[in-house]
Amino acid sequence: MSPTPHPAQAIAAAAEAPLTRAQALLEAERCLYCHDAPCEQACPTHIPVPQFIRRIGDGDLRGAARAILAANPLGGLCARVCPTEELCEAVCVRNTQQGQPIAIGRLQRHAVDAAMTLPASTFFTRAPATGRSVAVVGAGPAGLACAHGLALQGHHVVVFDAREKAGGLNEYGLASYKTADDFAQREIAWLLQTGGITVRCGWKLETVAQLVELRNSFDAVFLGLGLGGTAALGVPGEELAGVADAVDFIAQLRQAPDLARLPVGRRVVVIGGGMTAIDAAVQAKLLGAEQVTIAYRRGPEAMSASQVEQHWAQTHGVVIRHHLAPQALLGQDGRVSAITLAVQQEVDGRLQPTGEVETLAADQVLKAIGQKLALPWAESAGLAIQGGRLVVDAEGRTALPGVWAGGDCVAGGRDLTVEAVEHGKQAARSIHAALIQPATQPAAQSLPCAA
Ligand SMILES: Cc1cc2nc3c(=O)[nH]c(=O)nc-3n(C[C@H](O)[C@H](O)[C@H](O)COP(=O)(O)OP(=O)(O)OC[C@H]3O[C@@H](n4cnc5c(N)ncnc54)[C@H](O)[C@@H]3O)c2cc1C
Ligand code: SF4
Repeated sequence: MSPTPHPAQAIAAAAEAPLTRAQALLEAERCLYCHDAPCEQACPTHIPVPQFIRRIGDGDLRGAARAILAANPLGGLCARVCPTEELCEAVCVRNTQQGQPIAIGRLQRHAVDAAMTLPASTFFTRAPATGRSVAVVGAGPAGLACAHGLALQGHHVVVFDAREKAGGLNEYGLASYKTADDFAQREIAWLLQTGGITVRCGWKLETVAQLVELRNSFDAVFLGLGLGGTAALGVPGEELAGVADAVDFIAQLRQAPDLARLPVGRRVVVIGGGMTAIDAAVQAKLLGAEQVTIAYRRGPEAMSASQVEQHWAQTHGVVIRHHLAPQALLGQDGRVSAITLAVQQEVDGRLQPTGEVETLAADQVLKAIGQKLALPWAESAGLAIQGGRLVVDAEGRTALPGVWAGGDCVAGGRDLTVEAVEHGKQAARSIHAALIQPATQPAAQSLPCAA
């Protein structure tokens, strides 16, 4: 029998292999360079897909990367984590002609990875300094994209983040097999070479007074806070040891120096039906859990994880069970030992318990039932909230003058990395337009940045 691989090896093996040069050229040749390309329209950041693929076909990787990064400064990470099967690749005309879309995500990664061996200044040139400064709170994809867009316009940007490292969920949330080789940090380091951005980690915005201070000290503020709060199951036993939030589990795993020492249950139950549930379940399996079950309260078609993701989990030995809603967590000596789940049926689209109950043995239960905005003081600061998220207009302006927001923390989004990047990009355009309009300029009251 072959020895059990170290979890780090298992995770590395699960990471998607990059295309070789020959594979990339062959794949690029399949592209039809469609006029009004549907793939480009479907990309939230509108990367000029046919243009960059043509350049790969011509052997011009630098030009390809330039086209990608001008539209999406986090194009390397998005190439790894975007659900391309639901976005650009879903609408590729090669689906109908050859039953196989162009591997747009993998081609994008091929070009950007090659570009990242060159200095970022080769791709981005900053405009002369404007003397204006902007505070960006949150160093996730939304904040980073906004900061980058503003820095290119010559503004000075200070990015504040509560965590130790920048990156948001790119660093702490996305599955490690999607972002192997410390890619999130490498991409940030590369982007920061452009200049004009100071990152201050370990600073948390938690009072109205702090926001007032930021508004007084900077010419504009962007909030890219993501969703820091987690939803509770609301069933007995939730406080038992071994019951954890799936995002915290992933964060712990992403930051663990030695994965072999990370405590992982033998029988793990993950509650939820989205990307977080899939990521947590697959990683638990790769870390050595014997039995991993995802329990979801509705049917497969209602899961927010795509079919590709569901299949990915199943091919890694995760069992997905449907129409099961958690009822109670049972424990022994203060530690979870099982979960009871009420069997559900859908009547006129509404869930109803059938009266049957199933019990699954579990020594670890991971909750992946959604996150929520952790900004209890938002309304008292003058920010509008709808459905638990910040309300913004089409340009990302909040109800507070001089304050913009974007990414997962705003209402109406799809909670995807690429969409957070687009929000940040759009907000940067809007902030820049506001800062350069003499009539609407706020008084010049910038403090020296990152003092
Ligand atoms: C487990 C998981 C897996 C996912 N997988 C994918 C995937 O495969 N593909 C995909 O496209 N999307 C995925 N997503 C969604 C994606 O990660 C998010 O849509 C994206 O990260 C949102 O970016 P953001 O910048 O809005 O927020 P975040 O990435 O959450 O960043 C917010 C930042 O703000 C900081 N912050 C929060 N509050 C404060 C405060 N008060 N003061 C200072 N700093 C603060 C945080 O520390 C964080 O760094 C996943 C999400 C999760 C949870
Ligand atoms: S739709 Fe497909 S074939 Fe057409 S440009 Fe986009 S990737 Fe190429």
